[in-house]
Amino acid sequence: MTDEIRAVLYSDVPPSAEQESRFKQFLKNKYEQEVPFEWIEDTSIKEGFQLRVGAEVYDWSRGGVFRQFVDAFAARKYRGRDTIPLLKEALEDWELAALPEEVGTVLTVGDGIAEIDGLENAAYGEILIFESGVRGMVQSLKEDTVGCIIFDADNDISAGTSVKRSGKTASMPVGDAFLGRVVDSLGVPIDGLGPIEAADYNPIERPAPGIIDRQPVNQPLNTGLLVIDSMFPIGRGQRELIIGDRQTGKTAIALDAIINQKDKNCICIYVAIGQKTGSVVQLTETLRKHGALDYSVVVAANASDSDPLQYIAPYAGCALAEYFMEQGKDVLIIYDDLSKHAVAYRAISLLLEHPPGREAYPGDIFYLHSRLLERSARLSEEKGGGSITALPIVETQDGDVSAYIPTNIISITDGQIYLEENLFFSGQRPAVNVGLSVSRVGGDAQTKAVKKATGSLRLDLAQYREMEVFTKFSSDLDDATKNQLEYGMGLMRMLRQPQYKPYSQHQQVVMLVSAIAHCMQGIPAADINKFTAELNTSFEDVHGEICSEIDETGQLSDENKDAIIEFATKLAEKYKPTEE
Ligand code: ATP
Ligand code: MG
Repeated sequence: MTDEIRAVLYSDVPPSAEQESRFKQFLKNKYEQEVPFEWIEDTSIKEGFQLRVGAEVYDWSRGGVFRQFVDAFAARKYRGRDTIPLLKEALEDWELAALPEEVGTVLTVGDGIAEIDGLENAAYGEILIFESGVRGMVQSLKEDTVGCIIFDADNDISAGTSVKRSGKTASMPVGDAFLGRVVDSLGVPIDGLGPIEAADYNPIERPAPGIIDRQPVNQPLNTGLLVIDSMFPIGRGQRELIIGDRQTGKTAIALDAIINQKDKNCICIYVAIGQKTGSVVQLTETLRKHGALDYSVVVAANASDSDPLQYIAPYAGCALAEYFMEQGKDVLIIYDDLSKHAVAYRAISLLLEHPPGREAYPGDIFYLHSRLLERSARLSEEKGGGSITALPIVETQDGDVSAYIPTNIISITDGQIYLEENLFFSGQRPAVNVGLSVSRVGGDAQTKAVKKATGSLRLDLAQYREMEVFTKFSSDLDDATKNQLEYGMGLMRMLRQPQYKPYSQHQQVVMLVSAIAHCMQGIPAADINKFTAELNTSFEDVHGEICSEIDETGQLSDENKDAIIEFATKLAEKYKPTEE
């Protein structure tokens, strides 16, 4: 405490000389010094006194005492028949229990941010309650003011009104009842399907699991997309970035990954940050149509929501994911997208007058995303063995992956899937750039069957890209080069996949084995997708037992591989143009 503390006593009648000396004694005991003391008339305080020392309030008014009585009763300190004999004791207790309640005053408010005077002991991340009942969260602590982000509409708050500390940090309601629902960043349902009963509350900010609590990523999380599962496999507990310009099919990949989790015991959480409300509605409908909403939760902070709500959305989604992970379940969480999240955070930081750095982002922008993505993990068996796999999405401008936010997030994640506009518009969808994409840990998670089937696919495609320029002079090429080009083009065609049509593991294996064995050589490029579609269905019909063996064991025996090649070669004959 500084030397300058002053006490002000409020009441409707002035204190008697005896009361005054008791207050002075109380202050002396409390602050271990003489505290200057003045009385101000306040007719709103009935029967009693309110003493304010700096930001601390000691309430002995009727309202204050009544509240403490209710609190004590709620805590079952005095109950039933004991009430009357204990009443005297209780009254004494109240006086002792007159806890300081910190109250501050709003200095400025606007853009979802309030600056508050007082609240000396407020903690970072603590929830504050404004006079009108609106909630906010402490976001910056300065020498004598507190910066606070406001979660609800801020028009009820005016300068000069009071703010109370709650002593609690922000938390998100969680529970199984959230499955199939659309909620905002505070866990409030926005799908019009009634209230959700929360099983518990999880803090929105929480330290990531430590090293001891984790186990390595070695179980696959299949997306059902051939290009990803074959070359950039994702494991449970991994963080794989989806990065690309606007409208290159980023959300489509995430959506397909969710749809593919049907009947696979994986809970999906889709966090929409700063998107148009219409897009979120459409996405929810798509999930519902494919029966994927039953095991999913959509957490949405739309473009029209305030920056503070957009800022906390991914943490709230993660709190929900942690609830399921702690039950030993596997969770897939999508953050769509973290560029907009960074922009919302930048706006908050600038309004709070944090010093801007590169691209006007504040200095802690790296920590903003690292602390979020570090919370994805695969827990050890002792901890239940649950996992959170994260697919953060980042939007680039003009394919520039070296901008500030993309480089930051690339360095935090375990790999990236890079989508390219040129590929997208040339019809190569999903528009994954095979050269620039990687998956740093997922290789261990791939099943032996897919690994064996994939073989040299990446290398072959790299070779094809190098020779691609020559396609323009196709008439002057020798046969070997022509064959190489045709083979590469066939592979690229095979990797094209429509939306909402995930491939199962055995379908991927069948296609990969046939392609790598050059079975598709000679089929016109335009017919490749027709061929793979027929290959999948007819192979399942004829060799159902091989398909289920691959799915169940995750292994591909040499006999089965030969059977696939034989089958595909025969089928391919049908597609090769006959020479007239
Ligand atoms: P935004 O930057 O607006 O978020 P985005 O990168 O998330 O865009 P999407 O919305 O996923 O892109 O996709 C853009 C369009 O491309 C959509 O209309 C989608 O239906 C289409 N699309 C995406 N993937 C495929 C695909 N594999 N096959 C056909 N169409 C696709
Ligand atoms: Mg999108």
